[in-house]
Amino acid sequence: SYRKGGYHAVRIGDSFAGGRYIAQKKLGWGQFSTVWLAYDNQSSEYVALKIQKSAPQFAEAALHEIEVLSAIATGDPSKMNYVVRLVDHFKHAGPNGQHLCMVLEFLGDSLLRLIKYNRYKGLELNKVREICKCILTALDYLHGKLGLIHSDLKPENILLNSTINPSKDPIRSGLTPILERPEGNPNGGVTINNIEKKLKQRARRAVARISERRVSMGGVGAVPKPARCLDGIDMRCKVVDFGNACWVDSPIAEEIQTRQYRAPEVILQVGYSFPADMWSFACTAFELATGEMMFTPKGGQGFSEDEDHLALMMELLGKMPRKIATSGARSKDYFDRYGDLKRIRRLKYWSLDRLLVDKYKFSDTDAREFADFLCPILDFDPEKRPTAQQCLQHPWLNMDNQTHEEVNSESSVGKMNVGMSNLKIQLRN
Ligand code: ATP
Ligand code: MG
Ligand code: MG
Repeated sequence: SYRKGGYHAVRIGDSFAGGRYIAQKKLGWGQFSTVWLAYDNQSSEYVALKIQKSAPQFAEAALHEIEVLSAIATGDPSKMNYVVRLVDHFKHAGPNGQHLCMVLEFLGDSLLRLIKYNRYKGLELNKVREICKCILTALDYLHGKLGLIHSDLKPENILLNSTINPSKDPIRSGLTPILERPEGNPNGGVTINNIEKKLKQRARRAVARISERRVSMGGVGAVPKPARCLDGIDMRCKVVDFGNACWVDSPIAEEIQTRQYRAPEVILQVGYSFPADMWSFACTAFELATGEMMFTPKGGQGFSEDEDHLALMMELLGKMPRKIATSGARSKDYFDRYGDLKRIRRLKYWSLDRLLVDKYKFSDTDAREFADFLCPILDFDPEKRPTAQQCLQHPWLNMDNQTHEEVNSESSVGKMNVGMSNLKIQLRN
């Protein structure tokens, strides 16, 4: 992808916008762009620099994203604690073409990395609550005030708003900005850091090999690791990646959303609106609380991924009302006229609160309360789903966590106790 029309190759110390921004390290990448930590000489803060691929369709997508981000930034300043802020944008000419660049405020790790860091055990419910409140406040702003559908809500597109964000306090965070390209040390050269990293990687691989063998022998090494302790981590976050966002009166694509977070009305092509984001929100909340995706559909012999997805939804949420099942442009492909799936006949029903108890070991009360919050948002009928604003009123979000905390502090013996800075380092590795 590093060719004409594709990504722009960046080296540490490269400067952008006439020397204002200096590339520090790669933060991530997507289908459209690479994202770099950069130092802003003008404000003396760190920023995230999103450098789009250069081909016309990517440039057009970037212009759309800039338009959306500008509308977000000017709509209501008090809501900027919940959505990413666009700081600046400019064009950058390179060997692969002209690249549109977005300068965004620098945020922390994604919720997906948080879930991984927690070893896919699910976060404590009080933490899930805090994150849910942030996402819902963001959605209320996007839907209610701006008329925007995000269209790709998922843990990867929600970033933690770390309290030790170096952009807010570069000195205390111990980071010193690189102000020019290090001589004789192009990206990836031999530095102490790199050697250390390689040694650590080698050690980690060796450990992994040993425990794999133990697992296969059914030995003691097979004991699963406990979840890590995330005490003291501020669980505030912001919604990012507005590349697929659209205004409600001009939907851009028929098929939106990442597979696992896709709403039934999108699969069946009934037409979609804000409630499609609410569906993805519920899938995200479930994943935060359990560590596993709510739906992981797979195509099989005689049925497609879409059909498996619809079957999984009905196994968990009950039969889809005939009215919805038969009303989409694709309904006839999957459902008969009675609203039964044509090719997957036998469904194994398992209600959400039973699943939470049986598979994820929730207490009966926790399961009942969490399912009571999620189930209305997972209504097959998009018009019946509560809005983000209505969800914010739900008692589950405003519960007292006292009892949960008492229980958890007992079981935290044996958990790894990492300090905040330690956690940050591990998350970044
Ligand atoms: P996609 O294929 O998901 O549409 P994309 O090219 O539009 O990708 P983004 O999803 O916006 O790119 O960003 C890619 C990655 O860069 C993110 O997953 C995240 O890890 C990192 N990133 C993006 N924005 C920021 C930010 N403001 N602060 C820190 N990291 C960020
Ligand atoms: Mg993304
Ligand atoms: Mg994108």
